[in-house]
Amino acid sequence: MNKRQDFLTVRGYALRNQTNHDLTPSMEDYLEMIFRLSAGKKPVRLNDLALALNVQPPSATKMVQRLAEAKYLNYERYGAIELTVRGRDMGEKLLKRHQTLEDFFRLLGVKENLLKDTEIIEHSLSQEALDCICLFVDFAKEKPDIIDSFRQFAAAGKTGKTHLVGRLNMD
Ligand code: ZN
Repeated sequence: MNKRQDFLTVRGYALRNQTNHDLTPSMEDYLEMIFRLSAGKKPVRLNDLALALNVQPPSATKMVQRLAEAKYLNYERYGAIELTVRGRDMGEKLLKRHQTLEDFFRLLGVKENLLKDTEIIEHSLSQEALDCICLFVDFAKEKPDIIDSFRQFAAAGKTGKTHLVGRLNMD
């Protein structure tokens, strides 16, 4: 196979991914946050959701209605948002994906861009890469000495990346 055909633009990959499910990145963010706020079961108020996502209530209403049409949740105007079973399953999956990536970046020493990069990358990562990262995070948690030697390596500054020295000391 011609290797060059394997490369797509970001948009190209996004389009190919879209066949996997019917959620846009923005819908994923909403579902993840609703699941977070609901702690898996509590109904969520629209204003609380808008506040948590830093959006205006009318934008939140629009997106919540789209998610209701896609059967991820039930919502009546001015009422509470309740996830359906499908919505809960998806919300749980999205939150887990977020936490895995955040843990991974934290292990690497990412600090000031931790949330921003997690939020951007989570939507475009393949299941394969996510599974591998998840495995690595589990591995690192089970073997903290590996991470310690990584931090010592970084602290030694031998690679010339001196701007990274010190950031791996966990607070
Ligand atoms: Zn997220």
